[in-house]
Amino acid sequence: MSSLSAKHIGSGLASRLDDPDLFFPFAYVGGGAIEAASRATLGVTDPASGTVLGHIPSLDADESRHAIDVAEESFPAWSALLPQERSAILRRWYELIVEAREDLARIMTAEQGKPISEARGEIDYTASFVEFYAEEAKRPNIESVTSHLPNAEVELWREPAGVAALITPWNFPAAMITRKAAAAMAAGCTCLVHPSSETPFSATALAVLAGRAGVPAGVFNVVTGRAPIIVEPWTADARVRVLSFTGSTEIGRLLYRQSAGTIKKLVMELGGHAPFIVFADADLDHAVEEAVKAKFATSGQDCLGANRFYIERRLYDAFCARFAEVTAALSVGPGETDPDIGPLMNARAIDKQIEHVEDALAKGARCLTGGKRGAQGDLFFQPTVLADVPDTALIMAEETFGPVAALTPFDSEEDVVARANATEYGLIAYLHTRDPRRIYRVSRQLQFGMLAVNRTKITGAPIPFGGFKQSGLGREGARLGLEEFTEVKYVCRDWGS
Ligand code: NAP
Repeated sequence: MSSLSAKHIGSGLASRLDDPDLFFPFAYVGGGAIEAASRATLGVTDPASGTVLGHIPSLDADESRHAIDVAEESFPAWSALLPQERSAILRRWYELIVEAREDLARIMTAEQGKPISEARGEIDYTASFVEFYAEEAKRPNIESVTSHLPNAEVELWREPAGVAALITPWNFPAAMITRKAAAAMAAGCTCLVHPSSETPFSATALAVLAGRAGVPAGVFNVVTGRAPIIVEPWTADARVRVLSFTGSTEIGRLLYRQSAGTIKKLVMELGGHAPFIVFADADLDHAVEEAVKAKFATSGQDCLGANRFYIERRLYDAFCARFAEVTAALSVGPGETDPDIGPLMNARAIDKQIEHVEDALAKGARCLTGGKRGAQGDLFFQPTVLADVPDTALIMAEETFGPVAALTPFDSEEDVVARANATEYGLIAYLHTRDPRRIYRVSRQLQFGMLAVNRTKITGAPIPFGGFKQSGLGREGARLGLEEFTEVKYVCRDWGS
C-alpha cells in the first residue's frame, strides 16, 4: 500500500482535503488498493474547469472476475455474523462518513461539479442509508405462517442472496452506492461496486472509510475500469446472485438481457421523465418555488427532475412569467463557489440541451429565458424556460437531464392525466392543487412509483424509491430495499401425528 500511496503526492485534490488519504486513486478489492496489471488507467476531470483530477485503474475482465472470487470467498463469514455484529460495523461506517462530510463533499464537487451545498446534502443522504440499514440489519426476519397442512409448522426465512453487483451513475456518486450497498451488507451479502468512471473518487473514498470502519476484506469492493469490460463478467457469472443497477433505461435493458443467462435477481432504478402538474387553484408562489427545485436541483441532472410542466390554462400566463423570472435570477458557476447551478457532466449533456431547445423552438415553442451555453465554461448551460412546447417536441418525450424546462397549458383533468401518463417512464410525478378530492382522483390515475403532492423533496432512507413501467424494477430504501438482497426460504416441519 505504501508504494501505491506515492501516487497521492502531487494530487491537487488530495491537498484540498483535511484527510488526504480519502483521495484514493485505486480500485479497492479484498480490503486493499489494486492497480491494473497492465497499468492502464482512466482520467477523471473536473467538469467546471476541465482539469484532470487524477486517474483510476482500468481493470480488465480477468481482474473483474477475480473480484467475484474475492466477494464469494468473503460471503460465508460475513453472512454468518450475528446481525448485531453487522449492524455495529455499518454503524461505524455511518459515523465515519458523517465525520468526513466536508472532504467527501469536496471530492464530489470536484469530480461531479454539483454545488458544494448540494454535495454536502448528498453526503447526509449517503450516510442516512448506512444508518437506516445498520438499524434494519437487526430486525427479526422469520415469519411464522398459519399452517394449511395437518401436523405441520410453517416458517418463512429470509436469507442473504449471495454476491451482489452494484452499478451506479455519476449524478449521485455517493448516495446511489450506499442506498444499495448498505441494504445488501445488512442482509448479509457481499458487494461488487462499479461506480461511474466519471465519478469514481467518491466511491473509493467510501471504500477507505468502510475499511476503517472494520468492514471485513472482500465484503465491499470497488472495481474501476470501462463499464462493459467490468460488468459483463458479472452478468455472466452465476455466483453473482443480484444485480442492482441505477442508470439509464437504455443500459438497464442491456443488463437485463445480459443477466438472462444466469437468471439473476434484478433491481433497476432507471430513467425518469417527470410531469409537474399545476391546477389553477394552486398557490402560485409555492408552486413556482417547488417547480424551481424540481427542475434545477443537481443542475437538472436528476432522475427525479421535472421535465415537462403542465399548467392549467387559467394560471398559465402568470405561472410562465413568475417561473421565468425566478429562473433568470438563478446563479451559474463552478460548484465550489456554491451557485444554484453548476456545470453539466460532459459534452454529450450540453449537446442534448441544445438539441432539445432547438427542436422545441422549431416546433413553435417560445424561449422565455436562457436557451444557450453558459459563458462560464464549455460544460455550462443557461437555466432555460420554454413556453408553449407542443407534445410532439423531443423534450416532451425524452429525459433532458439538464437545466431546461418545457411548459405547456392544459384544459381538463382528464387531458392532463392522459398526457402525463403517455410515456414509457413512471418514476415520479408532481402535483399542485388545493382540492383534496382532486388530489385523490389524480393520484389514483397517475402511473408513477412516487407522487409528490404540493411539495418536491420526498425521498429518504425510510421510503421505497422506485418506478413503474420502464423506470425500473424493485425498490430501494425502506425494508423493501433490504429484501431485494434476500431469498425467501419456506420451511415446513412435520411433527408427526
Ligand atoms: P448510464 O450511462 O446508464 O450509466 C450508469 C452506470 O452504468 C455507470 O456506472 C456506467 O459506467 C455503467 N455502464 C455504462 N455502460 C455500460 C455497459 N455497457 N455495461 C455495463 N455498465 C454500463 O447512466 P448515467 O448517464 O451515468 O446516469 C444517468 C441516468 O441514470 C439517467 O437516465 C437517470 O435518470 C438515471 N438515474 C436513475 C436513478 C433512479 O434511482 N431511478 C437515480 C439516478 C440516475 P461508466 O460511467 O463507467 O460508463
